[in-house]
Amino acid sequence: MEDCIFCKIVKGEIPCTKVYENDDVLAFADINPIRDGHTLIIPKVHAENIWEISGESLTAIHLASRKVAAAMKKALEPEGIAFVQLNGRGVNQIVMHYHLHLVPRPKGAPELPLTGWEMIPGDMEKIKEIADDIAGAVQIA
Ligand code: AMP
Ligand code: ZN
Repeated sequence: MEDCIFCKIVKGEIPCTKVYENDDVLAFADINPIRDGHTLIIPKVHAENIWEISGESLTAIHLASRKVAAAMKKALEPEGIAFVQLNGRGVNQIVMHYHLHLVPRPKGAPELPLTGWEMIPGDMEKIKEIADDIAGAVQIA
């Protein structure tokens, strides 16, 4: 896609700090890291989000993410690694080319903003009603 910044990175028109690459995916350092080691994995074929990406690209991303996460574990020995993936401007997706964030929490670093939510028990009737709505909309492949 012409105006897509991540497509430009794939084509080499914009530089990136590469971590890993294969035929289908590219992994590179995020330039606004939440924590040291914050890495993005993207498909080489443009797709905007989870609703658009092909099964092949999605599989390739997740297999590559396991490889990169193993490398991060070895190189950085983090407390853990969060995988974050945003779909839609309403949840602050900024770059409209599918990407998976791998965010390690280095030893001694503060807890990640996304992983510390309070556990407040929900209303079971409401939980069931909403789950039923989603279940009813599941498409049989
Ligand atoms: P989001 O779309 O909100 O999931 O996040 C987009 C991410 O892409 C942000 O964390 C940015 O820091 C990152 N980003 C944007 N442009 C670049 C770039 N040229 N190189 C590396 N990371 C980038
Ligand atoms: Zn793109």
